[in-house]
Amino acid sequence: MAVKFSQMADVYQKLECITSGNQIRALLSDFFKTVPLAEIDIVSYLTLGQIASKYEDINLGMAEKMVLKAVANATEQPANRVNKLFRKLGDAGIVAEQLVGKRQRELSAREVFDTLHSIARTAGAGSQERKISYLSRLFTAASPLEARYLARIVIGQLRLGAGEKAILDSLALAYTGSKTAKTMLEHAYNVCPDIGIIAKTLVNKGLKGVSKINVQVFRPVQMMLAQRVDKISEIHRKMPGLMSAEEKYDGERIQAHAKGNTIILYSRRLDNITSQFPDVVAALRASIKAKDYIIEGEVVAVDKKGNLLPFQTLMARRRKYDVEAYARKVPVHLYVFDALLVNGRNYLRTAYPERRRTLERITKEGMIVKLARRKLCEKIDDVETFFNQVIQRGCEGIIAKSCAPGAYYTPGTRGWLWIKWKREYQKELADTFDLVVVGAFAGKGRRSGTYGALLCAAYNPETDTFETFCKLGTGFNDKELAQLPRKFPAIKQQPKNVSVSRLLKPDYWVAPATVIEVLGAEITKSPLHTAAGGLALRFPRFVRYRPDKRPEQATTTKEVIKMAVRVYTELR
Ligand code: ATP
Repeated sequence: MAVKFSQMADVYQKLECITSGNQIRALLSDFFKTVPLAEIDIVSYLTLGQIASKYEDINLGMAEKMVLKAVANATEQPANRVNKLFRKLGDAGIVAEQLVGKRQRELSAREVFDTLHSIARTAGAGSQERKISYLSRLFTAASPLEARYLARIVIGQLRLGAGEKAILDSLALAYTGSKTAKTMLEHAYNVCPDIGIIAKTLVNKGLKGVSKINVQVFRPVQMMLAQRVDKISEIHRKMPGLMSAEEKYDGERIQAHAKGNTIILYSRRLDNITSQFPDVVAALRASIKAKDYIIEGEVVAVDKKGNLLPFQTLMARRRKYDVEAYARKVPVHLYVFDALLVNGRNYLRTAYPERRRTLERITKEGMIVKLARRKLCEKIDDVETFFNQVIQRGCEGIIAKSCAPGAYYTPGTRGWLWIKWKREYQKELADTFDLVVVGAFAGKGRRSGTYGALLCAAYNPETDTFETFCKLGTGFNDKELAQLPRKFPAIKQQPKNVSVSRLLKPDYWVAPATVIEVLGAEITKSPLHTAAGGLALRFPRFVRYRPDKRPEQATTTKEVIKMAVRVYTELR
């Protein structure tokens, strides 16, 4: 029997009340077992609060205000009453729940899903009204509880505490009962970050089908990441033999997909960022000679002479308007460094030296597209010499890449096949942290009217929670300070996936959505913070925003532990 949206709302309500990861998985897998095969994909998307995978660029285009209008229409309430209630409650879901009356008719999950797609497709003149009208028809039919989750899905704030990993684990539990299946599903999801495809393949073709999921042009692959070491000499220990030291550019990672005349650029977050870089697209067309391909590189801002400029300069290219003008104002280079698919052949399980050779074969360097510069090294002294040269050139550091026969492209994994060594590591504390803002404190004195400090957290992928690591008040210039409340609007409730200590409650809660880079002096034990059971960053300093990262791509608590190994040993 088709899944009813009311069944989903019941499960969501239960999920909201539990925090244990195991219970979440047990509940979800029991539910998944009842879902007909043909609907497992839509149920998976909706449970993540989505209607398609992230990379598909399908947006509902409805902000809170429009959702409140749809509630007002459906319930025949004056708009100002609805808005007033929203100001009081601060959650469009609860507003919808309080105003919507008895259920008028049964909504199926499919109808909700299809209507949300119709909303996403609605564009052009009068589209706002039509979107509102689609949604208000759903509200008219829905029960109060269904209305709560419908509103939250539409504004992208479902937040059940069940992230991608929990859904994958629950699918594995429901359909195979085996633990090894979890790892397989995770791997497949790294190659194909589309929960609907993974779920459908698993229920229709089993694990064998899942193991066959492969790279495909126009379906981005989760990007391979680099490990870090404390001393440059450690690189050699972790990566014996021949290695390639490559320049590490301070820009934005791009995965370029091409087939025929179409080129799509994906960011680290798997967003489609093609429209931001018309110059890069044109340059790829001229420089890369292959029928189809997936290649990766770092796009970096340069001055007129081609000297490398820092990441902040590149950020001026993040815009919807005046794209062409800014392409001239802020020229870029694209340094390509990897090939994942070329002329229909999948290179994921091909060792790095051959991937690089393939890349060189299809690349004709031009004004914009260039091959990442590198030096093959056997001795660590050579790596160090190369490092010192590239720093002079304005690079962030180097990435050492293994040339061993098993040096495959490992999607979504931070492994020892790539090791980074950066300028900052030579200073006192190794590296900066990419943290997620989860709260804020009211400013006093000179800072009254804005925030005085932000509460920042590291990510714990095991529990899918953000654990606080520092209170950050320094490093902002006056303009950045003044913009903090706008950049981090307060929400009414503590988000479920944020863990704070009783001793450090922020004045305002902030939805964990934005990643910022923070430099710190040392890591200590602290009862004020929850990161890795009570680690804190002392003297944190704001470095920059990291809009290229999703919150789940922030520094993990495990990485924090690694960087504080000595402190951690004491802790235990
Ligand atoms: P960081 O904050 O140090 O940039 P990160 O967490 O963003 O690191 P890592 O995987 O640790 O990402 O470091 C690799 C990143 O470095 C890549 O995501 C890419 O954006 C960038 N990069 C620059 N040059 C290269 C290169 N030659 N090869 C691979 N990655 C490179």
